[in-house]
Parts: sequence; structure tokens; C-alpha cells
Amino acid sequence: MVKECIFCRIADGSILSKRIYENDNFFSMLDQNQSIKGHTLVISKKHFETILDLPSSLGQELLDCIKKTSVSLIEKHKAEGINILQNNFEIAGQVVKHFHVHILPRKKGDGVSVLS
Ligand code: AMP
Ligand code: ZN
Repeated sequence: MVKECIFCRIADGSILSKRIYENDNFFSMLDQNQSIKGHTLVISKKHFETILDLPSSLGQELLDCIKKTSVSLIEKHKAEGINILQNNFEIAGQVVKHFHVHILPRKKGDGVSVLS
């Protein structure tokens, strides 16, 4: 738990959030920026700065959280596809220094460009 980390405070419940899915080590919730509708984050409950700090033994639970959350988003937003994105270190666009994965629900003609 890192006191000044926003995702640690959400993970420990001191900042309230609505969880889409959770297991022992990960949970998912909507990103506060909904410029892509349904933009969701999968967040580790423990503080790891980047994917390089995340123990490989948590890989199965991470995948479980990504997949269950994705299925729920596909149903809720009638998505036709999803992008899974993950930023590590500032140069690569990481702003919150607590491990998280982005899930973007996609639809035909939505105009979203994720790799350019
Ligand atoms: P990244 O650039 O990969 O570090 O992404 C950080 C993401 O966290 C951004 O998409 C933000 O909109 C999102 N974010 C930051 N603070 C919060 C918060 N308190 N609740 C929900 N999403 C947040
Ligand atoms: Zn943290």
C-alpha cells in the first residue's frame, strides 16, 4: 500500500468505486475518462509499478480478470471487439504508477485509433 497512490486507495476501499469483477489479486472498474464508452481498467490489488514488477505467478489471475471483465463489457456495450492495452513507464504513456491494464470496447465505425 502506497499512501499517495490513487489506485492503492481505490484497491483498499478508502476511495469508493464500483467493481465490475474481482478475484483475489485484481479488480476491474470503469476508467474515469469515458471518451471511449466502457473504457475499463484492470488493476492489481497490491502496488506494483509496472508489469516488470508483477510476479509471473499472478498471470493466471490477471488473465481471469481481463477475460471476465471483457465478456461483461461485450455484453453490456454490445461491443464487436476489444483492445487490451498496457503502458509501462512515463515514456510509454504510463501516468498512474500502479500496474493496470486498459480494456477498450470497440464497434464498427467508432473512429478509435489505438496504435498510430
Ligand atoms: P495510464 O496512462 O496507462 O497510466 O492510464 C491511467 C488511467 O487511469 C487513465 O486512463 C485515467 O483516466 C485513469 N484514472 C486515473 N485516476 C483514476 C480514478 N481515480 N478513477 C478511475 N480512473 C482513473
Ligand atoms: Zn498503488
